[in-house]
Amino acid sequence: MTKTRRSFFSWTRNLMAAGGVAGIAPGAEAAVPATDYYAKLGVTKIINAAGTYTALTASTMPPQVRAAVDAAAMSPVRLAELQQKSGEYIARRLRCEAAMVTAGASAALTLGTAACMTVGNRAAVALLPLEVDGLKNEVIVQKGHRYGYDHAIRNCGTRFVEVETLAQYEAAFTPKTVMCHFFNAAEHGQISREDWVRVAHAHGVPCFNDAAADVPPISNLWAYTQMGFDLVTFSGGKGIRGPQNAGLLLGRKDLIEAATWSSSPRDETVGRGMKVAKEQIVGMVAAVDWFLSQTDEGMQAEFRARAERIAARLKDIPGVTYEIFVPPLANAIPHLLIRYDQAKHRPPLEISAALRAGTPSIELNPATGRRSGSAGLPNAEDAIIVGVWMLQPGEDVIVANRLRQALLAV
Ligand SMILES: *Cc1c(COP(=O)(O)O)cnc(C)c1O
Repeated sequence: MTKTRRSFFSWTRNLMAAGGVAGIAPGAEAAVPATDYYAKLGVTKIINAAGTYTALTASTMPPQVRAAVDAAAMSPVRLAELQQKSGEYIARRLRCEAAMVTAGASAALTLGTAACMTVGNRAAVALLPLEVDGLKNEVIVQKGHRYGYDHAIRNCGTRFVEVETLAQYEAAFTPKTVMCHFFNAAEHGQISREDWVRVAHAHGVPCFNDAAADVPPISNLWAYTQMGFDLVTFSGGKGIRGPQNAGLLLGRKDLIEAATWSSSPRDETVGRGMKVAKEQIVGMVAAVDWFLSQTDEGMQAEFRARAERIAARLKDIPGVTYEIFVPPLANAIPHLLIRYDQAKHRPPLEISAALRAGTPSIELNPATGRRSGSAGLPNAEDAIIVGVWMLQPGEDVIVANRLRQALLAV
């Protein structure tokens, strides 16, 4: 060891001993044991037997994604370069013209709408959301596709024009039409994706498809851009298991570029508050890599095996039957549906309250005990629904035992 190196090391040691500086050189930071801030704050950790619900902090990141986030946190970079190169990489992997990482699918809806309103007219960016009289701001949508994310589009100062039939759709275009919006997992609406795109393009209007919750299957990540939708969004913090506050906006190159005009770090834009930090950008890229390394068969088999393990622990209880149910579009993975004789056991809402109140606290799917589950889940007034895909290894057994206890308790 040279003298310089030796003195460097003793200098470092002294600093560390003094409780001082870490991070002498990139990568040289000593690993510090993580403080459990949930414990420190008194926040209850839960077992997520519900699914990717934002109120339950939705997905968890796989180890590969967490490691990429951690590594990204160690070095500052130039944000514009990271935004550009991550977008190009994602576009290549997801077989579309262009892509950007947004602060979730909801942010992608706002930025994509802003893009449609300002493409070819960058000066208009500062006019959103209120000074839009001189801009195109009508968004055509099927009546059955109105949903809880309308506001993300309205944030740009748009107005919805509702249609039901194909003839109404064809007649709805005006010189103010700026975008045609499609909710991919909608349970109502009679106009197909193909017709939606065809008619919009015949009028030279871009089409947006919100497919936020619609992977797996993995191929959906390119199916809708390849079908001709000009913009498509997926949530990063659902099935893809990226950072919970990240998402993907995919699509036409000129529109993605226009979306960046309305986005952080640019001030005086509708999207300035929808900032995505370097950790989330890198985490989203790593999650795309992780998700593409999975197979649909592998994921379905794993989730089905979890559902079967839970069912196996319950099926000898008198009056209990079960079914493994895969919703058609959103969250299209096996869910465990447990039906039982309501005269013999406590009602589903009491069971879910008991699991919530116990230790560890368990959240069942919120459709449990309700007539209409959202997103393609069946009527579960007399049933329990277990969403198994966000369970950590081994948690299925805990959920099974606690369900058994709750069903057998009188
Ligand atoms: C979850 C969801 C969103 C919002 O996604 P975030 O990533 O949480 O912003 C938007 N649209 C649909 C259809 C969704 O299911």
